[in-house]
Amino acid sequence: MKVAVASGKGGTGKTTVAVNMALALSGRGEPVQLIDCDVEEPNAHLFVKPSWKTKRNAFVPVPRVDESKCTHCGACAEVCQYHAILISPQKVFFLEELCHSCGACIELCPENALKESYRKIGEIEEGTKSGLWFAHGKLTPGEPMSPPLIRQVKQLAWGEGAVILDCPPGASCPVVESVKGSDFCVLVTEPTPFGLNDLMIALDMLSQLRIPGGVVVNRDGLGTSEVSDYCRKMGIPILMYIPYEERLARLYARGIPVSTVSYEWSQRFGMLWDRIIKATAGSVDHFSAVSCGVGKD
Ligand code: SF4
Ligand code: SF4
Repeated sequence: MKVAVASGKGGTGKTTVAVNMALALSGRGEPVQLIDCDVEEPNAHLFVKPSWKTKRNAFVPVPRVDESKCTHCGACAEVCQYHAILISPQKVFFLEELCHSCGACIELCPENALKESYRKIGEIEEGTKSGLWFAHGKLTPGEPMSPPLIRQVKQLAWGEGAVILDCPPGASCPVVESVKGSDFCVLVTEPTPFGLNDLMIALDMLSQLRIPGGVVVNRDGLGTSEVSDYCRKMGIPILMYIPYEERLARLYARGIPVSTVSYEWSQRFGMLWDRIIKATAGSVDHFSAVSCGVGKD
């Protein structure tokens, strides 16, 4: 069961939900993987504090030219949809950051002058914390494309058991790449008009990806009821309300997941996972979320 945790924008509490849910499951003795897909700004490790086991470089394939064979015919530049190749009468120039590793230029070179080479785009680290398996990617600063690294980090997901993906914020390519292939997506939002606006964009993305989703309302009690009203009207399950509490904010600021210091909160995040399982079976609606008291008491 692969569950993505996303949000329309940063700072909504997405990582809090992903980390606490993963720790709650490992606390119950269940096998669980937490993968931080926010490779541009990974931060889940600051809360998990894993013991690192492995660290390796991540690469993408790129073409390299053998100038002794090249006739500068221009066929490779012509086939490259991403304008990553420039040809001069004397030299072939590769703009590697634009290369999408499609391999078309290598296939089509009539002189067999292009070969596959590798370019480092970042690092992947794996670790554990009391039964929880953790991984994240770190994109090299200045690297323009994060999806290739996100794909490589996601490949570490087990085929079975619980896999939780902490996604980047927003609804652009890196988020789509992170959420793609999940069985369910939890959207974390705040009860404000801005929160509702971002939630609607994220829901649209899920609908295009045909991935079922549910909502976690964070900092409940601070804003309005617009998000709840919208979800009720649209039949979108609200899986959990996390009330605004100064204690939670303080723990977050100190990098302490609340589920590690509160049995009650660990239970709540465990219940959130259970509700996701039910939601994938289509047996959860907004009203049962409130009545079961997950985060709303
Ligand atoms: S297609 Fe091959 S031979 Fe032609 S310019 Fe490109 S590398 Fe050189
Ligand atoms: S591998 Fe594809 S994207 Fe990269 S330079 Fe060749 S044609 Fe362009």
